[in-house]
Amino acid sequence: MRMTQCTAVLCVIFLTTGVVYPQNCPPCLKNQNPLPGHGAAANIPSCVCPNDTRRVILVSIGGGWNVDPNGNSTPGQTNVHVWNAVNCAIATWNNAQDQFGNKTGYYFVLDQSGQYGSTDIKIQREQVASGGGFAQSVPVGTHPNVTSWKIKLDPKNGNLNNNQFRHEDLCGRVSHELGHVIGLADNWDCTTIMSGTDPITGMRPVNTIAPNDVLQVNNNLRDDTRPNCPQCYDGTTNCEGGGGGGDEGGDTGGGDDTGDGGCIDCNCHYETYYAWTNYEDGCGYKWQQVRYVCDGQIRWEGQWEYLGWSCAHY
Ligand SMILES: [Zn+2]
Repeated sequence: MRMTQCTAVLCVIFLTTGVVYPQNCPPCLKNQNPLPGHGAAANIPSCVCPNDTRRVILVSIGGGWNVDPNGNSTPGQTNVHVWNAVNCAIATWNNAQDQFGNKTGYYFVLDQSGQYGSTDIKIQREQVASGGGFAQSVPVGTHPNVTSWKIKLDPKNGNLNNNQFRHEDLCGRVSHELGHVIGLADNWDCTTIMSGTDPITGMRPVNTIAPNDVLQVNNNLRDDTRPNCPQCYDGTTNCEGGGGGGDEGGDTGGGDDTGDGGCIDCNCHYETYYAWTNYEDGCGYKWQQVRYVCDGQIRWEGQWEYLGWSCAHY
């Protein structure tokens, strides 16, 4: 009897599921060098991680976010949604693992007072005009040697766009922007934190960090694998544009938030698609859906929205 039980347990242990991870998805960037950071995670007391050599990256939330969800000033008090989302995104990246159990080589720390050094990533309350209009990562310095980053979060994030998107979408949005800082490009071809945002509501189809996201961050981080990353910061594959970067506002043609003077996915754009149901006598329910289309292929489809009748019904 005891023998039979043991055998059953062993059988369960050996049952594994095969998971296929598309290679190079999301693309890491070959011409974006890792931030130098601020030493090892083991030196940060709150980490409680002796011997942890992960590279510390310091994050701070700008004073512009000292506003309540209605936009009223709250001196010394960061907007609760943004505070929670930044802490969530930091914890999510710090704990995420690839398919082999490795974490990224980075350890994000929220350091509002600058006690550990100069800020690497400043999160600012600023209007975002390009792409989806919710967030934008702006490098300080010139590629490949960017010295620090600014992440613009549009003011409408402060009340979850009038509660049109969820807390997890804001956490996912910050995680996505941190992903750019640590060497990842936008992508819609696999399940990745680097997929985009519904430009109308601000909801995001993917808010979790996938094993391949971690793998590709480390491929950008390592000097021996970075040259094999498939994409350049300007969206090309050969990086002939040289340095670039630094001048924000040059994001053309639907890259959601890169603002780098070039563009990622230059042949992509958002479009609104209409459809009708219950078509009868020329009338029916009308729906719309926002889609992200690249080179004529749909990369991402948003939620269907009900518009009303396509003509007066009687
Ligand atoms: Zn992006």
